[in-house]
Amino acid sequence: MAHVSEHNCDVLVVGTGPAGLVAALAMAQAGLATIVVGPAMDPARDTRTTALFTGSVALLHNLGLGPALVPSMVPMTGLRLIDDTGGIWRAPEILFRAGELGLTEFGINIDNATLNTVLLAAARTQRGLRLIEDTVAPGFGLGANTTTVKLGGVGTISTRLVVGADGRSSLCRREAGIEAPTSPYQQSAVATRFHHTRPHDGISSEFHRKAGPLTTVPLAGLESSLVWVETPEEARRLMALDEAAFIQELNGRLQGLLGAVTAIGPRASFPLTRMAADRLGARRIALIGEAAHVIPPIGAQGLNLGLRDIATLVELITRARGLAADIGGETVLEAYETERRSDVASRAAMVDTLNRSLISDFLPLHLVRGAGLHALNTIPWLRRLIMREGLHPSGRVPALMRS
Ligand SMILES: Cc1cc2nc3c(=O)[nH]c(=O)nc-3n(C[C@H](O)[C@H](O)[C@H](O)COP(=O)(O)OP(=O)(O)OC[C@H]3O[C@@H](n4cnc5c(N)ncnc54)[C@H](O)[C@@H]3O)c2cc1C
Repeated sequence: MAHVSEHNCDVLVVGTGPAGLVAALAMAQAGLATIVVGPAMDPARDTRTTALFTGSVALLHNLGLGPALVPSMVPMTGLRLIDDTGGIWRAPEILFRAGELGLTEFGINIDNATLNTVLLAAARTQRGLRLIEDTVAPGFGLGANTTTVKLGGVGTISTRLVVGADGRSSLCRREAGIEAPTSPYQQSAVATRFHHTRPHDGISSEFHRKAGPLTTVPLAGLESSLVWVETPEEARRLMALDEAAFIQELNGRLQGLLGAVTAIGPRASFPLTRMAADRLGARRIALIGEAAHVIPPIGAQGLNLGLRDIATLVELITRARGLAADIGGETVLEAYETERRSDVASRAAMVDTLNRSLISDFLPLHLVRGAGLHALNTIPWLRRLIMREGLHPSGRVPALMRS
């Protein structure tokens, strides 16, 4: 007879990307019997870096990951915006300093390979958490107090709540019956890292160009990461260039801001897409991270949003458990929807507006953007407001994100 394995848990997290692993650690540390399921992966394969703002960094510290992550965290102390649209009216260069908000830094930049490796190692040893290297299969069986999920391999898992962290093509989202309108942009991002001769001084620089932004983010020493948004054809061309030719093009784009570019790392290209799930939960399934929302890599919002999903969900579940209520019930899922909807919608709209104001040929839009940047340079309270909003939404900060 075939071996049958049946598992029971409070929370099943589906997906072992950064959102899934952080969610699993947070649930287990909140005292919930947790299982996380995802295919075996090589965490070092992801050559990108991720900029995380102060609340996200606090969350990682609060989960006890500080000692393992801090040596690889590079502080971002400033943000520079440069108008490179070539329009008739060039907006002024803007430099935001974390000190203007009384902070030492806006956040940090970390390479994804380190982040994922540390998260995976922590998940393997976390008490109350079991990591199963497998996928979940379609056909969740919804019962009165639990739902039953089949593994792609052998076994079933019975759980009170499924946390869908299974990325943009989420099976959990489909099982919840949630639609997710998706709009591709006619743009792709080329991501890499590069060495340069002049120090970045902890400042991330965003060149606003007609094809989309080109952003450098500080890494240790004389190194930065790069997200370069272009038309898909131009991105394909950049990907096909040899190293010397790519460096030459990058030198042209950076206009000597970081001195000369001397070497680049591996390149990867990502088509830009916007997707927002119609709802963030249903049928004992709560969606987090890119299973719930995908926004273009502009302004470093993606995983920061996902971590805010997690901090909010953990808080709601803990509260429900304290009241002896159903942690996977409609009340929790509705509260999650209410708490997260405006942050998710406003971030997506902000990134979309900035992006469209660059690529549009509509002159008044360029004038409005230029006037907005001019105002940011001259009105201190507006600067502080925009800086604060960029870091986290106004309103209550979930406990897990407080320092
Ligand atoms: C170029 C670029 C730069 C970026 N820079 C930043 C930045 O600076 N700051 C920032 O905050 N964000 C950034 N982002 C966004 C960030 O990378 C994403 O938000 C984040 O990676 C999403 O993580 P996730 O865990 O939600 O999804 P994913 O990483 O896609 O993980 C989903 C996981 O689910 C698993 N899975 C799928 N189906 C199943 C199944 N049936 N069963 C089990 N497991 C399954 C997959 O194998 C995968 O491991 C950037 C994105 C890009 C493209």
